[in-house]
Amino acid sequence: MTETTIFQKIIDGQIPCEKLHEDDLCIAFNDISAQAPIHYLVIPKKPIVSLCECVEKDAALLGHLLFVGSQIAKSKNLTNWRTVINTGEESGQTVFHLHIHFLSGRKLQWPPG
Ligand code: 5GP
Repeated sequence: MTETTIFQKIIDGQIPCEKLHEDDLCIAFNDISAQAPIHYLVIPKKPIVSLCECVEKDAALLGHLLFVGSQIAKSKNLTNWRTVINTGEESGQTVFHLHIHFLSGRKLQWPPG
């Protein structure tokens, strides 16, 4: 049996978060360790480990996550932001429940480390 991730506990309401959005398919909340003045995560309620585990029928869900994240950005009057999806340990993924980072509010360097 796979271990329950911290994000599954957030979805289940077992641990609190600063929630920005919730619907049938996803939840968005502020990152607990913000790397920019604005840093939130959009995650599916479906327990997908990473982008690597997605299947074709997840395509609409993936689009929904991006759309929800962009609507939140626009509700904050943002016109510049970065979206990041870490996939696998070597990319920096630490929570093995798919999530999209949205970062904004400062000049972001490129390329990332
Ligand atoms: P990853 O490194 O897997 O791409 O991103 C995981 C993110 O989840 C990190 O930015 C980390 O700060 C955030 N995070 C980890 N635990 C919690 C938590 O309990 N609550 C919230 N809001 N964010 C968390």
